[in-house]
Amino acid sequence: MTRRARYRLLSRYGRRQRGHLVALVGLALLPAAMAALQPLPLKLFVDNALGDVPLTGVPAQVLETIGVADDPRSLVVFAGIAAIVLGIVTYLVSDATTLYWEWVGARMVRDAAKDVFDHLQRLSPHYHARTPEGDSLSVVTTDSSAPYTAVNAALVSPVMATVTMVTVGLSAWRLNRGLTLVLLAMTPGLAVLSRHLSGRLKRAATRARSERVAVTSFVSQIVHALPIVQAFTAERQNLRAFRSITDRAVDANRRTAALEASAESVAAVLGAVAASVILVLGGQGVVEGDVTVGDLVVFLAYARVLDRQFRSLLSVGRQLRLAEVGMDRLHEVVSSDDRVRDPDDPVAMPTATAPRSDTSPRSPGRTDDDRGSTHPRGLSVQWDHVTFGYESGRPILHDIDLEVDSGETVALLGRTGAGKSTLVGLVPRLFDPWEGAVRLGGVDVRRAAVADVRSRVAVLRQEPLILPATVAENVAIARPGASLAEIEDACQRALAAEFIDGLPDGYETVLAENGSSLSGGQRQRLAIARAFLKDASILVLDEPTSALDTESEALLVRSIEQVSEGRTVLVIAHRLSTIRRADRAVVLEDGRVVEMGTHDQLLERDGSYARFHQLQTAGAPT
Ligand code: ATP
Ligand code: MG
Repeated sequence: MTRRARYRLLSRYGRRQRGHLVALVGLALLPAAMAALQPLPLKLFVDNALGDVPLTGVPAQVLETIGVADDPRSLVVFAGIAAIVLGIVTYLVSDATTLYWEWVGARMVRDAAKDVFDHLQRLSPHYHARTPEGDSLSVVTTDSSAPYTAVNAALVSPVMATVTMVTVGLSAWRLNRGLTLVLLAMTPGLAVLSRHLSGRLKRAATRARSERVAVTSFVSQIVHALPIVQAFTAERQNLRAFRSITDRAVDANRRTAALEASAESVAAVLGAVAASVILVLGGQGVVEGDVTVGDLVVFLAYARVLDRQFRSLLSVGRQLRLAEVGMDRLHEVVSSDDRVRDPDDPVAMPTATAPRSDTSPRSPGRTDDDRGSTHPRGLSVQWDHVTFGYESGRPILHDIDLEVDSGETVALLGRTGAGKSTLVGLVPRLFDPWEGAVRLGGVDVRRAAVADVRSRVAVLRQEPLILPATVAENVAIARPGASLAEIEDACQRALAAEFIDGLPDGYETVLAENGSSLSGGQRQRLAIARAFLKDASILVLDEPTSALDTESEALLVRSIEQVSEGRTVLVIAHRLSTIRRADRAVVLEDGRVVEMGTHDQLLERDGSYARFHQLQTAGAPT
C-alpha cells in the first residue's frame, strides 16, 4: 500500500471528526500549561518557605492579594494547598482530554468498521470462499481501529507532546539554559533508535497479525464443523493443532513485545542518564550559588515531563508502523472489488410474460388450484454462448447455449463438479460471464440494476442459510417490509406454519446461528416460505431435497410444486422423481451441455441420461 493510499484512508476517517480534532488540539494547551505550572509550588516551598530567598514577582502579588502573610509557616501551608489544587486540576484536565479523545476515537473505529463490514457483505461469495473467515472477522473487529491508532500516533499525540514540550521547555529555559541544553542533548540518540527499530517492528507486527488470524480462523472452522468433530472424536487432535497454532501466535506476539520493550528501555536509560547529569551539574550550580535548590527541584520535575514527552514523540514512528499493518489490510479489503455493478444507465427488467399454456408436459402430478391466476408469470432465461470460470485461465462453463422458456421447468443433471450450481449462479448475477451473456426476459442482466435482477429470482439451496434472527425476520428477508400476515401466509403455503406454531415464541422465536436449532427439513421450509413471499418470476432450486429423507421430501415436494406454479423453474436434482416432473432435462458434463430434451426423448437417446435413469430405477424405487 502506498503512502498516499494510506494518507487517503486516514483523511477519510479523520475528516469526519474534523471539528472534534480541532477542539482536541485546542484542549491540549490546558494539560501543557498545567505541566509547566505543577512543579512551581515546590520552588515556593524549598526556596521561599524553607530557604531564605525573598518572594518576588507574580507569586508575591498573588499572596498579597489573598492576604497571606509572608512568613514561613503561612508559605508552607499555601505551597501545600497550591500543590494539591494544581495536582487535582492537572488530573481533571488530562483525564477529560483523554476521555474526549477516546470518545472521538471510538467513533472513528465505528466508522471504519461499518464501512468495511458493508463492503465485505457486498463482495461476492467467491471472494469469501478464498478469504479465511477469521481474516474477515479481524478486519472488522481489530484492523478497523488502525485509522484511529494512526491519527493518534501521527497527529494527536505529537501535537499534545509538542505543545507540552514547548511550554515546559520555555519554562525550563527561563529557569536555567545550560541544564535545558543537557536535556535536549539526548534527542538524537532516541531518534536514531526509533528509526532503527520501526522497520523490524512492522515485520514482526505483520506476522503477529497473521498468526492471530490463524487462531480465529481455526476456531471458527472447528465450531462450524463441530458435529463432525464430535462424531469422529477428533477433539484431541484439534487441541494439538490449536496448541501449535497458538504457540506460533504467542511467539509472534512475544517478538513484537520484545522489540517495543527494548525501544522503551533504551529510551528510559537515556532519560535516566540525562537526569543524573542534570543532578550532578545542577548540584554543582547549587554549591556555587548560581542555582537555587528550588530551581533544581523544579528542573528535575520538568526533566521528567520532557523525557516522557520525548519518548511519546519518538514512539510515533513505532506506533505508525503498527497501525500500518491494520491499515494495509483494511485498504486491501476495501479496494478489492469483485462486486457486480449497476450499469450507469440501467434498463428496467421486463414485466413477466405469460407462462406457457397448461397443456405443457409438466402436468403429471400437478394440482391446478384456483390460486394459479394470482401467481406471477415467469421470465425466460437464456445463456447465450456463456463461458465462465472462477479463476482466470480455468473456465468452468464452456460456451453454454441454452434457453428456458417463461414458465418452463428445466431439470439440470450432471456429476458433481459439472458446473450446475455455477450455471444457475449466473442467473441472479452472482457473477458475470467471461464471454457471452445471460438474459432474463430478453434483457442482459448486466444492463439492469443488480437489485432489479435479483428481485426476479428466488433461490432454494441445498443448505438453506438461516440468519441469527427471529423466524419472522428470517422469512421477511425475502421482501423487507412485508407484513406479519403476509409472512404467515407464506409460511402456511410452505407448510412451515405448523412447526413454527410449536416453537416457544412462534414467529418471534430467535433462531440460533446457522439455524442449528432447526431440522434440515424445517430450514428448507423456511427457505420455501421466503420464495413464496418473494414472489419472484424465476425459481432456482439447487438440490433442495437431496439432504432429506423420503418422507420429508414428499412433503417438501408438495410445497415446492406450489411455489413453482406459474414460474420459470431451474431445478438441479439427482432424484428421478423430481426430474420426471420437469418439462425438459439438460445434462451437463465438464461445464458443457451434452444432452437436452424431454424425459422420453432423452431415454431414446441412450446417453448418460438413460444410464442415470437405469441406475436410479435399479436402485431404490422412486
Ligand atoms: P455438485 O453436484 O457437487 O453441487 P456442481 O455441478 O454444482 O456440483 P459447481 O459447484 O458448479 O458444481 O462447481 C463446478 C466447478 O467449479 C468445480 O470444479 C468446483 O471446484 C469449481 N468451483 C465452484 N465454486 C468455486 C469457487 N468459489 N472458486 C473456485 N472454484 C469453484
Ligand atoms: Mg452444486
